[in-house]
Amino acid sequence: MPVADSDMVVDNSHALQEGKTPNSAGNENILPASLGSPAADILKNFYHTKRVGNYLIGRKLGEGSFAKVREGLHALTGEKVAVKVIDKRKAKKDSYVTKNLRREGHIQQMIRHPNITQLLDILETENSYYLVMELCPGGNLMNRIYDKKRLDERETQKYIRQLVLAVEHLHRAGVVHRDLKIENLLLDEQDNIKLIDFGLSNCAGILGYSDPFSTQCGSPAYAAPELLSRKKYGPKVDVWSIGVNMYAMLTGTLPFTVEPFSLRALHQKMVDKEMNPLPPSLSTAAICLLKKLLEPDPNKRPNIHQVMADSWLQLANKNTGAPYLNRIHIEEINHTVLLHMTEKMSYKHSEVLSAVLTNRACHTLAVYFLLNKKMKRLSKEYRVSMSYITTFTYQILKKNKTDTHYTLFSKELQREKQKSEYFQTQWRKHVDKLTIPPKQTPVYLAVSKGPSKEKKHRTGEGLSRLKH
Ligand code: ADP
Ligand code: MG
Repeated sequence: MPVADSDMVVDNSHALQEGKTPNSAGNENILPASLGSPAADILKNFYHTKRVGNYLIGRKLGEGSFAKVREGLHALTGEKVAVKVIDKRKAKKDSYVTKNLRREGHIQQMIRHPNITQLLDILETENSYYLVMELCPGGNLMNRIYDKKRLDERETQKYIRQLVLAVEHLHRAGVVHRDLKIENLLLDEQDNIKLIDFGLSNCAGILGYSDPFSTQCGSPAYAAPELLSRKKYGPKVDVWSIGVNMYAMLTGTLPFTVEPFSLRALHQKMVDKEMNPLPPSLSTAAICLLKKLLEPDPNKRPNIHQVMADSWLQLANKNTGAPYLNRIHIEEINHTVLLHMTEKMSYKHSEVLSAVLTNRACHTLAVYFLLNKKMKRLSKEYRVSMSYITTFTYQILKKNKTDTHYTLFSKELQREKQKSEYFQTQWRKHVDKLTIPPKQTPVYLAVSKGPSKEKKHRTGEGLSRLKH
C-alpha cells in the first residue's frame, strides 16, 4: 500500500524528524531483542492509506459528526493504536467544535485509569487534528448487545461496576463526561470496559474551562431530565446516564421512549418515572439500583460515591481503598522500557521521565506506553509457551518412564532457572547505576483561553440505534 505523505505534520513526530531510529545505540546484552523495531512485514502488511508522523493510518473503526476513528500502526514499535481524526475544515463550520477542538485532548491527559482509554499522542496538520489513543480491540459494547439482544445480569453487573469506577475517578478529578452512552463504551482484550469520547466532557474550574454547566449536550436518550429542561446541572447527570446504560444493557432498549419523538414528551415521561418494562427475571437489588440511578430529582439522586456503596455493585471494599492515581509514580516506571528507549532509541532519560510522569500526550509517551504493552504481551506469551513445553515434555517422559531422561530434564530446568536469576541480578545492577531524578510534580496543562459557549444537542444520536 503506497504511503501518502500529503498531510505535513506540524509537531510531535520528533523521533523520525530528528533522525532517531530504533536500535541505533546501546548494549545488546541488556535489553530483550524482541522489544526492538518491528519486523518489516508487520509494516508492509498493515493496510493504510497514509502516514502521519510515526503512524500509518488504516481502516475506519468508527465515525462521529466531525471525527473519524481509524486503526493506526505505530511504525517504531509495530503496535496498533486508534487514531481519532478531526477534520478541521468541517469543525470550522461549527463554532462550538472550533472552540473546543483541543479540550478533548486536554481533559484526557488529566486522567489515567484502567477503565478509561489512554491518550498517547496529539498531532496536528493544516487540515486535521489527530488524537492517538490505545486501541480497544474488543470493539463497541453496542455490537455485543446487538449480538446477544441483551446482556445477562452478571455481565451487566461487571460492566456497570467498571463504568461506575471510571466515572467516580472522573468526578474526583472534577471532570463530568456528559456523553455516557453505549457507543462510548468499548472493550479491551480482557473484555474490560474502556470509556472513550471526551468531546463533550467538561471540568469545573480546571484548564480555564469556566462552563456554568447549564448547556444542553449529549444524546437526549441518555440525558438527565435537568439537562433536558435547560436547568443548571452538576455531575449527577452522569449518574442518570449510567442508569440509562444499565437499562440498555439489561434489555437492549432504552428506558424512556416516546413516539413520535418530542423532547417535551420525553422529559415528562422521565419526571413521571414512566420507565419501560424490565425483564421479569431481574433481581430486586438490580431493580432497586436502577430506580436510584433513574431518579428524576437530582437532589434525591445519589452522587457517584453513594452509588459505589450500593450492594448490587459489590464495590464497598473498593470504595474505601486508595484511589487510582492520575499520575504514574516513579517507582512504577518500567525500567526495561526506559533503558531500551534511552540506550537503543537515543531518548534522553529526563525526556522519557517527564512525559511519563506528567502523562503528557506526545510521541515519547506513545513509545513508552506501546513498548510497555508489547513487553507485557510478549512475556505473557513466553510464559504460556514455556509452561506448555514444560508440561508436554514432562508428560512424555513420565509416560515413557525413562528415569534418566527425567533427571536430565529436571537438571536442565534448574539450570534455566539459575540463568534467569543471574540475568535478573545483572540487569538490576545496571539499572541501579542509573540516576533517576526526584519525583516530579505533575504539571497540569496550561491553557490560555477556554471556550465560553457550549454545544447544543446532538439530537437523536444514539436513539435510533437502541430501538425500543
Ligand atoms: P465521536 O466523538 O465522533 O462520537 P468517538 O470518540 O466516540 O467519536 O469514536 C467513534 C467510534 O470510533 C466509537 O464508537 C468506536 O466504535 C470507535 N473508536 C473510538 N475510539 C476507539 C478506540 N480507542 N479503539 C477502538 N475503536 C474506537
Ligand atoms: Mg462517541
